[in-house]
Amino acid sequence: MFRLNENYLKLPGSYLFSTIGKKVAAYIAENPEKKVIRLGIGDVTQPLAPAVIRALHTVVDEMANPETFHGYAPDLGYEFLRNAISGEYKRFGVDVPADEVFVSDGAKSDCANIQEIFSADSSIAVCDPVYPVYVDSNVMAGRTGEYDAVTGRWSNVVYMPCTMENDFVPELPEEAPDLIYLCYPNNPTGSTLTRDQLQVWVDYANKNGSVILYDAAYEAYITEENVPHTIFECQGARTCAIEFKSFSKNAGFTGVRLGYTVIPKELKCGDVAVHSLWARRHGTKYNGAPYIIQRAGEAVLSEEGRAQTREQVAYYMRNARMIYDGLKKAGYSVAGGVNAPYVWMKTPENMDSWEFFDFLLKEGNVVGTPGSGFGPSGEGYFRLTGFGTYENTVEAVKRIGLL
Ligand code: PLP
Repeated sequence: MFRLNENYLKLPGSYLFSTIGKKVAAYIAENPEKKVIRLGIGDVTQPLAPAVIRALHTVVDEMANPETFHGYAPDLGYEFLRNAISGEYKRFGVDVPADEVFVSDGAKSDCANIQEIFSADSSIAVCDPVYPVYVDSNVMAGRTGEYDAVTGRWSNVVYMPCTMENDFVPELPEEAPDLIYLCYPNNPTGSTLTRDQLQVWVDYANKNGSVILYDAAYEAYITEENVPHTIFECQGARTCAIEFKSFSKNAGFTGVRLGYTVIPKELKCGDVAVHSLWARRHGTKYNGAPYIIQRAGEAVLSEEGRAQTREQVAYYMRNARMIYDGLKKAGYSVAGGVNAPYVWMKTPENMDSWEFFDFLLKEGNVVGTPGSGFGPSGEGYFRLTGFGTYENTVEAVKRIGLL
């Protein structure tokens, strides 16, 4: 009889969004006259920018013509897109050669898959709360030990609490982990590290022989000068860091699918460049992001595309700012919303994350995300996002203010 990968069986169910969905559906069924506003989503709502749509129409026509038809894409991405991405890094004053860019179908798969090129007994550290993919992908690989349902923690994972009390800045672990997952701007807390704070992590990783796996999916939302747009702004990051980027949140590509990973050639274990292993893995397991989509990505990075997508980001950030200000005015403790589309609030003292979810749904008809769904240190917090429409956000903030 065949057997299953037992590591998968250790995974607790991903109850967060299904529980939210069920609670909201039940409430609507009982109260069909109520207009429920969803500010829990991490998905974008604005359509693709005109420059992207134009590029898509053009390439679709190219595919109809034998002279311009494209089949398999190069494993690591087309030169035109890798060059454009390299050009993006120049805007941040950073030199990332095109051949250090690996084009993919998004940051989620790269963040999840990167662990497989490291030793099976690598130790890992994550911020808590955290985007669940980092931990779950290591569970699947058998790296995380046993799950304790009471604490919500795995025995072999180093959790770095990020709360209002420590201003969402994780402490350096006493014993250096092999792999350190950092995500800035952060989902779910909306927090960031300054350039100096991130430099501390880079120095720590170089000193201890750790690798930082840096998820910069929300980079486009940075508004403050002292917040780095890429970990490669830090001195020495080329010998200790891998960066993941996405077109999902800066250009609305959540349903289009495009992202990339940067691995500097100087990142080495002994004589072996990590770059070469990821190239091998990509070549074996991935057949390249579609030509059509890579051309759409190129359009995002054009002058026109950049201007149009900046407006979309500004639209979401206006919503986030409105949520932030509205919650503050209503007397809540609030974080995020300045360099990220996420607003992270403390629930009232007498309510945990789920109780506040129920309260907001029933009394305000507004849906958010309970912080406890992102990790044990998310208990007592709640996430609202700027990804809704402006009109719905205005209405939701008004309702919360009246509670
Ligand atoms: N990284 C973080 C922190 C995210 O929040 C998300 C999506 O919500 C992703 C990566 C996924 O990005 P992509 O759509 O490129 O797979």
